[in-house]
Amino acid sequence: MISPVLPTYTRAPLSFKKGQGPWLETEAGELYLDMGAGIGTCSLGHAHPKLVAVLEEQARRLWHTSNLYEIPKQACLAEKLVEHSFADTVFFTNSGTEAMELAIKMARKHFSSNGQPERVEIITFEGAFHGRSSAGIAASGGAKMVDGFGPLLPGFKQVPFNDIEAAKAAIGPQTAAILLEPIQGEGGIRAFGDASLKALRALCDKHGLLLILDEIQCGMGRTGKLFAHEWAGITPDIMTIAKGIGGGFPLGACLATEAAASDMVAGTHGSTYGGNPLACAVGCAVMNEITSEGFLIDVSRLAGHLRQGLEGLVADHPEVFEFVRGEGLMLALGCKMPVPDVVNAGYDERVMVVPASDNVVRLLPPLNMSTEDMDEALWRLERAAVALERKADCGNDKGLQA
Ligand SMILES: *Cc1c(COP(=O)(O)O)cnc(C)c1O
Repeated sequence: MISPVLPTYTRAPLSFKKGQGPWLETEAGELYLDMGAGIGTCSLGHAHPKLVAVLEEQARRLWHTSNLYEIPKQACLAEKLVEHSFADTVFFTNSGTEAMELAIKMARKHFSSNGQPERVEIITFEGAFHGRSSAGIAASGGAKMVDGFGPLLPGFKQVPFNDIEAAKAAIGPQTAAILLEPIQGEGGIRAFGDASLKALRALCDKHGLLLILDEIQCGMGRTGKLFAHEWAGITPDIMTIAKGIGGGFPLGACLATEAAASDMVAGTHGSTYGGNPLACAVGCAVMNEITSEGFLIDVSRLAGHLRQGLEGLVADHPEVFEFVRGEGLMLALGCKMPVPDVVNAGYDERVMVVPASDNVVRLLPPLNMSTEDMDEALWRLERAAVALERKADCGNDKGLQA
């Protein structure tokens, strides 16, 4: 019999009653270190006092009015995002997927309104994840995501991951945009690298295409800059964010230059909840923290510490781990053992990591973790690795005896 909750997730048998910073407490009072942070959303950890305070205050005043009226907190958050990015304008959503939907619509509208309605095609890369809507899965193209859900939204052309020549070859008279995550998240923490981002920007400029960056996972300070593309010294025309911006409260946004967005006039797009007072109160507080003096420097320092620890883990446990990759606090451990076994060994040591494709586990810890908590997480991962090695050795012994 089907469960009351649609069983589209394989859930760990864990449930938590409260959180504090990077720590989560189960019903039974066990403490887990959360190195996944709700898949990179709880960027400031759990129950951050400033976020709790603004949410409580806003909850007592006003929850929701709709976008038929001015929402001062929304305008304030938009101004902050514009001030700290390439963007001239922002539309708020409740999720990353919805932000992606607008990015795709905006790209098509741009060309349609500028006398090139045939330009509808968007080039994407294998391993991409852009959400679970019909457009999102068409853009992502992964078999598990798309099988049985056709007909898919047409207009996406997939090329191999980070294959700039293939992207170039895929450009035709119908191409509108190139869409990518500067660092693929679900795809296994795979970075395009600065040279590729520069090359793709140049390609878009040469052919008059829009560059759309999905920074839903890699943005909002995770790499040590506010947005991952800043490392490459380029800017996109359109960018989506979500996850980290809400600190765990559902909030996403589509940011764009005036040139890319200018045809999205009144009536062309909307959202009932998008950018409501509760979400934007929290979003403003998150933005204030992440853009505060020294915050991103601390992220980079902590990231260096984590990376060094993980490199040590790989060196000490070559039977379990193969490599570390990623940027900032968006890192992956390549696994020589099945990823679910590694994730479960983590649970046994009460440290949570997140599975991803390409045989890796992801670490997306809160950006403001203390070094002591980070060391504790590394120590727990070390113990998990030792346990996995022991299990593997036992298995081998049994194999020899048989
Ligand atoms: C999580 C994610 C999405 C989808 O965001 P939702 O909030 O789940 O709709 C899209 N793109 C990337 C890169 C993501 O990590």
